[in-house]
Amino acid sequence: YKYLYVRNAERPVVKIPDPVLRQVASPVTKVGAGESKLIDEMLRVMKKANGIGLAAPQLGVLKRIITIAPHGMPPLALVNPKITEREGSTIAQEGCLSIPGLYGDVERNLKIVVEGFDRRGKAIAFEMEGMPARVVQHEVDHLEGVLFIDKVDVATLHWMHPESSDDDVE
Ligand code: ZN
Repeated sequence: YKYLYVRNAERPVVKIPDPVLRQVASPVTKVGAGESKLIDEMLRVMKKANGIGLAAPQLGVLKRIITIAPHGMPPLALVNPKITEREGSTIAQEGCLSIPGLYGDVERNLKIVVEGFDRRGKAIAFEMEGMPARVVQHEVDHLEGVLFIDKVDVATLHWMHPESSDDDVE
């Protein structure tokens, strides 16, 4: 799977062990033209990679911006996302666009409330359950320099070619 770990124009997502993935991202003070362009690029890269979520550090930018596109939901950008409520627990498989080919089970909260701002700078809040809640928790972890392999049940870790699997990656 070594070629999947090369970063180039076709595969622009930052991969481990790039240190940017372990740094804490900074809050966005104003959603300006640069942030808007970054959001467009994140949405484009996420879609092209068949991802259901992406965090700005995965494009090498240490800003608190995530994009998510869980199945059945239109793609959405969240600026300065903050999980303000958590409830319950659920275990499911996760993968990550920054760790291509590796999958494993991660325990997450079942329900969350996430607050933040949209790309126009308007305050937004969502109550989420199940997969969308999982994606947001995975992406917000990226903003803290935390990866799913830090939380995974190591007994369930396994390699699978991302293009031969239907599994979701974030
Ligand atoms: Zn990820």
